Amino acid sequence: MERAPLIIGAGPAGLSAGLELTRRGVTPTILESTGGIGGLARTQVDGDWRIDPGGHRFFTRSEEVADLWRSLLPEDQWLVVPRSSAMLVNNRYVRYPLMGRDLLLQLAIGDVVRGAGGYAWARFRRQTRIEPREISFQEWGRSEFGRHWYELFFDGYVRKTWLADPENIASDWANQRIKPIGWQLSKHEQAADQDVFRYPRYGPGQLWEAAAKKLANAGVDVRLNAMAAGARYDGRTWTVTTDRGDVVSGDALFSSMPLRVLVDMLDPAPPDYIRAVADNLRHRSLITVAVALRKHYDIPYNWVYTPGPNFHAGRIQNYRRWSQDLCPKGFNGTYLGFEYFLLPDQDLWLANEHGLGAIVERDLHQLGFKNPQIERVMITRSKFAYPIHDPARDRSVVRIRDYLREHYPSLHPIGRNGMHHYDNQDHAMLSAIRSVGKYFGENVDPWQVNTDLSYHEQGLRR
Ligand SMILES: Cc1cc2nc3c(=O)[nH]c(=O)nc-3n(C[C@H](O)[C@H](O)[C@H](O)COP(=O)(O)OP(=O)(O)OC[C@H]3O[C@@H](n4cnc5c(N)ncnc54)[C@H](O)[C@@H]3O)c2cc1C
Repeated sequence: MERAPLIIGAGPAGLSAGLELTRRGVTPTILESTGGIGGLARTQVDGDWRIDPGGHRFFTRSEEVADLWRSLLPEDQWLVVPRSSAMLVNNRYVRYPLMGRDLLLQLAIGDVVRGAGGYAWARFRRQTRIEPREISFQEWGRSEFGRHWYELFFDGYVRKTWLADPENIASDWANQRIKPIGWQLSKHEQAADQDVFRYPRYGPGQLWEAAAKKLANAGVDVRLNAMAAGARYDGRTWTVTTDRGDVVSGDALFSSMPLRVLVDMLDPAPPDYIRAVADNLRHRSLITVAVALRKHYDIPYNWVYTPGPNFHAGRIQNYRRWSQDLCPKGFNGTYLGFEYFLLPDQDLWLANEHGLGAIVERDLHQLGFKNPQIERVMITRSKFAYPIHDPARDRSVVRIRDYLREHYPSLHPIGRNGMHHYDNQDHAMLSAIRSVGKYFGENVDPWQVNTDLSYHEQGLRR
């Protein structure tokens, strides 16, 4: 059969697979369930307002990804944004990643004394103890920051965003995402200079819309509002049907849809034990409420973490510091994005503008904004925002992967939800690009992307 692969999903992974296939002379068909491009990294538009559902920094250690990003948008469409974030604890902003100097100068004296004592004790214990290999996030955090600072900064935040007890969460991702306290002043100041990220002027979706346009120009059929609902494999050919009745066939299937849902729609169906482990893969959802305030408040950070129980939101984006072009021209007020983390079966998922508006008003009050004059409230919902990880689920993913490899050799799960892996855009893209390599017979393992556990969040001026 002539090469004619199918791709499920027009997010970063699906589009990157498409770009890599066309680069190699193959024209795929892309099915996207929503009416928009970009997946989690879309830009939602409401009149002249633009909403980035997650605050998407473009940073990567991969030259390949950085080159691809640059090739898709002209230089004047990229902003270079200095990273500047803080944690709001006990009514005080403390810069994040945490620096020793800020902890000493910005916290209340009680939090300094208790925190420094706990930190020194944790360091001492580290020297004298061998950590077991698999430790919980709580153990990791206490050992890294000391008990008091861990509780002040991370325990509440992780409970709020992961919706689980940190005692029951694995810590393997923490080294990638959470930077240890920095103590060296001069080195830090150099690092702070370099800690920048790139950002498309009109939000992350601008990049992915450019990618979709490039694909369309190359003859790729990118079908929107086409949700894959069934995938039949006859040993040679894939036939995918959509909820609106399209039937498309191809010699391979690249899937960035949630792995659990994919397993459920395969025909022939995998055995019950594989379906059962897949059924246990879960996601956390995200509601982002963007709020435009007529009043201008000077918040000197791109985003602020709000770990305390007094806030309902887990994080607040300050969109004007990302890009002025996310707001209408001439807007001089404040434009914030409140992020609410939840499970998809929680009542909050169904809350309407009125209900969410009331929650946001309480959070605005906690920020100390009196009479902020709300001009507009806009809501975005991301159901499959975070694949939930724990060691048992990670083992389930390996079992599913091995089963699929053996029984559906031309099926390529790609991306964050496709592989049920906590990936940023760059790793979602690389998993897709490597999968295309595999499709062409190269000896690569896309599942090895993003298995390095060192710190990944440093920005790069590229
Ligand atoms: C709050 C938050 C903040 C983030 N911040 C950053 C950041 O700062 N930097 C960064 O690089 N990354 C960040 N990310 C991660 C980034 O959004 C993801 O890594 C990236 O979007 C994953 O791309 P993907 O294509 O694998 O998945 P997705 O973006 O989820 O795309 C999958 C696509 O498949 C579609 N789909 C699903 N089911 C079907 C179906 N049955 N049929 C057809 N289509 C289907 C979906 O609609 C979607 O468009 C963040 C994510 C979140 C949630």
